[in-house]
Amino acid sequence: MQSNGDYEVHRLGCSYFPTEDYTYLGEFYGCRTAVTEAKRKFPYREINGCYYCSRECHTS
Ligand SMILES: [Zn+2]
Repeated sequence: MQSNGDYEVHRLGCSYFPTEDYTYLGEFYGCRTAVTEAKRKFPYREINGCYYCSRECHTS
């Protein structure tokens, strides 16, 4: 989670994966399905892909 309140989706093994206070979403074939799942779990939060490990899902 970023300081602006957005949730970031990471792949396992990402060096930016949070070490605490994170929600494990499960295993996905691609970041887009992971982002979709994150949006389903947190419908009122902005969900964004990690710039480093999920760049194809990173916006803004
Ligand atoms: Zn990441």
